[in-house]
Amino acid sequence: MRISVDRSRCEGHGLCTQQAPAVFSLDDNAELNHRFEDTDIPAEHLPAAQAGIGSCPVAALRTSFEPYR
Ligand code: SF4
Repeated sequence: MRISVDRSRCEGHGLCTQQAPAVFSLDDNAELNHRFEDTDIPAEHLPAAQAGIGSCPVAALRTSFEPYR
């Protein structure tokens, strides 16, 4: 499963980074870095990554299986 980021929506709140720090991080400009953007999320990071999706207040994250909300 992949997770994509709609950077036009991301406002750098960082809630996803709190849920899944091994997957998401913010740089010094509050731009989101997504460690697995071009590949499947490793199984060991999936629960946290999915929690990160659910935590985003602006629905900037989505899996490859669901449309933007
Ligand atoms: S929680 Fe959403 S808005 Fe905040 S950094 Fe993550 S993707 Fe961006």
